[in-house]
Amino acid sequence: ATTARKSLTIGLIPADGIGREVIPAAREAILAVQSELPEVKFIDLLAGWETFTRTGVALPLETVQTLRDECDCALFGSVSSPSRKVAGYSSPIVALRKELDLYANIRPVCSVSADPARPPAVDLIVVRENTECLYVKDEKLIQTDNGKEARATRLITERASSRIGKIAFELAKARPRKLLTIIHKSNVLSVTDGLFRESVRAVPRGVNGKYDDVTIEEQLVDSAVYRLFREPQIFDVMVAPNLYGDIISDAAAALVGSLGVIPSINAGDAFVMGEPVHGSAPDIAGKGIANPVASIRSAALMLRHLGYTSAADKIDKAVNDTLAPADVLTADLGGTHSTAQVTDHIMNLIKHQY
Ligand code: ATP
Ligand code: MG
Repeated sequence: ATTARKSLTIGLIPADGIGREVIPAAREAILAVQSELPEVKFIDLLAGWETFTRTGVALPLETVQTLRDECDCALFGSVSSPSRKVAGYSSPIVALRKELDLYANIRPVCSVSADPARPPAVDLIVVRENTECLYVKDEKLIQTDNGKEARATRLITERASSRIGKIAFELAKARPRKLLTIIHKSNVLSVTDGLFRESVRAVPRGVNGKYDDVTIEEQLVDSAVYRLFREPQIFDVMVAPNLYGDIISDAAAALVGSLGVIPSINAGDAFVMGEPVHGSAPDIAGKGIANPVASIRSAALMLRHLGYTSAADKIDKAVNDTLAPADVLTADLGGTHSTAQVTDHIMNLIKHQY
């Protein structure tokens, strides 16, 4: 993370559905903390199902090139996917992760505590490896004498496991509890999960005690999910291979109520992209009632990843100070306010109170 940039160029890809309603809110949040940032520039970019239906491509080359050549980071909204398979269409988000080598999916899940003196009941970060494991999609269907047989390859490399491990150690080191839990199933999958576990454990070696203050624990994935539901407070930073990470990050999201409040970033060594965890929510799209918090928090998380801590802190504080009193909330959190009203409320706190 470097804060020595002269300017910060941010690609905005609202894509489909409520992405178009919540990404503008995230943009406003960044503008509201401009004084903490170098000169901010936004570039609007296309991708998604609507782009595909109009142009025949879900992820225009121009979008990828602009992100690569001109942007420091980006915010992605959400894509609608057709209910059946459509020839030529594939998710632009998956393609973007690949094109930009965004190998880490980072998802903080934090409940809001009404009493500022008490810590939140859930305050954890799931760090998911984003490029390999079963999701390399190397599947085969074979006809045998005994019927069909399906096989999939699960790829785990030392390189991918150590780089995700390094991200997880960095995050753990920066948090008050400094606890890292490695999630695996190496009692059964001793080769693949064994390599993941060993590679993450090896990260602190040879870096001169840099991570000496981080406590390392391990959990088998099944018991991790069980404990996540029974005693989520035991977790701080969890790091997992792709498949387990996918499941755990959605399970963790369920602990804090609405999908509308959970942010994420997709990070690589050269680029970071903020993305709310929710989808395009076709059931509420266009009504102006989507919760903008997930996107606003994604903007903060992206800024934090880039090293702009004070800007991120301001945004997160305004969000918490909006959620805790629960006076101005969208319908998913039991409120009656619109996207614009919640956004304005958060912006006013940022601009006038801190
Ligand atoms: P997609 O296929 O794009 O993922 P989906 O139908 O799965 O669409 P999600 O966006 O995943 O929809 O949302 C699941 C449910 O949560 C929907 O009922 C949706 O309205 C609600 N929801 C998701 N995000 C928000 C939000 N930001 N504000 C309010 N409600 C939301
Ligand atoms: Mg969905």
